[in-house]
Amino acid sequence: MSVEAKDHDPRMPYQLPFPADALEEIVIPKAIPDDERIWVPQANNVWFRPLCLNRSQGYWMNLLRVRKAGVLSRHRHPQAVHGFVLKGRWHYLEHDWMAEEGGYVYEPPGETHTLVVPDDVEEMITYFQVTGVMYYVDPWGKPLGYEDVFTKIEICKAHYSKVGLGEDFVDQFIR
Ligand code: FE
Repeated sequence: MSVEAKDHDPRMPYQLPFPADALEEIVIPKAIPDDERIWVPQANNVWFRPLCLNRSQGYWMNLLRVRKAGVLSRHRHPQAVHGFVLKGRWHYLEHDWMAEEGGYVYEPPGETHTLVVPDDVEEMITYFQVTGVMYYVDPWGKPLGYEDVFTKIEICKAHYSKVGLGEDFVDQFIR
């Protein structure tokens, strides 16, 4: 017998409190924001928009926006990345496929790649989940720097403070 068969009122909400130690949900009505200040610059023609900065599990969910001539510098992922293309097209210099609007990409641990947007694309926006670090390297793997959820939080604080939203603006995305 399925669970459903015993449920006399499937539309009755759960009646008990959530666990006392559970974190608050995050609900963002406009993930692609109207307020340009919400986009955090990360390189020339590259921005990110934080959605969930999960410091307790060491990952972040964000929208990445790249406009013409923007390059997301070469980096290695020690952990998996998931991406869903919301707008435009892009590709990695290290692969011959194209990530198209509406498409999904899984990047396995061990990937090192460089994200670029084709010349005929004005703008791409992709929803990415990144766990652990982005480890920036030269073409031969020599380390140049890294980003993790903590550097993301810091860069958000500095940017939101600078544009007048206040560094606390980032708190709503942190769990
Ligand atoms: Fe990547």
